[in-house]
Amino acid sequence: MILFDAHNHLQNAALAPHLPGVVADLERIGLARAVVNGTREADWDRITTLAQAHAWVLPSYGLHPWHIQERTPHWRERLTGLIENGHAAIGEIGLDRWIEGFDLQDQTEVFAWQLDLAARHNLPVSIHCLKAWGALWEILRAQPVPECGFLLHSYGGPVEMIEGFVRLGAFFSFSGHFLNERKTARREIFRQLPAERLLVETDAPDMPLPPEHTQYHLPETPQGLTLNHPANLRAVYEGLAELRGEPLETLTGQIAKNFQRLFG
Ligand SMILES: [Zn+2]
Repeated sequence: MILFDAHNHLQNAALAPHLPGVVADLERIGLARAVVNGTREADWDRITTLAQAHAWVLPSYGLHPWHIQERTPHWRERLTGLIENGHAAIGEIGLDRWIEGFDLQDQTEVFAWQLDLAARHNLPVSIHCLKAWGALWEILRAQPVPECGFLLHSYGGPVEMIEGFVRLGAFFSFSGHFLNERKTARREIFRQLPAERLLVETDAPDMPLPPEHTQYHLPETPQGLTLNHPANLRAVYEGLAELRGEPLETLTGQIAKNFQRLFG
């Protein structure tokens, strides 16, 4: 089986103590590529190191809306330098009106600048959006997006907006989190999404799968948090194949094509 993780955070410090075992497990399940997303300047170097160590890592650099206050005055030059260095993507970037004390104006400026950088270099971009779908739509409609397309990761937006996003070049990634019993509406959306726009993600070490779907476990953090092992990717594929009533081989073939189209 050849599997593609459209969105994870392998650089996350919580995974560091487990990394050798995690990498071995990923290679065992047949991981072909994983987009490893930065969230702030402080984690960009770790992503570069991972990409140098593992050919299957596609490095992705960006400022996540939760971390824009941490940015330095030089973030734009640093980001530009990183993407000009070699094959890379941009992300995780986005808009978030769910976190406490959000500043949508500031988020919009940082997001729009990064989207523009991606469009100018035609780089795939991974977008996070929580409770800001109208604002996201306005930006995507008003300014150029990368010709290769963009990813709405762990798509949680309304069903009515899908057609418009598809016209603009969107891909949508299914998260293992949607296998939770109560996520019925999300599953229905992903059951109907056009096959040629589907991708699969773990968001690991975030967004654990429900226990009955979890195939790989990691010890809890000292703070008592459950970590999502990136090798649960296979379980996410299996969950999506079952949901869409497709043989796993059909789905993996389609996802491989879609991943190639967006991420090259
Ligand atoms: Zn993420």
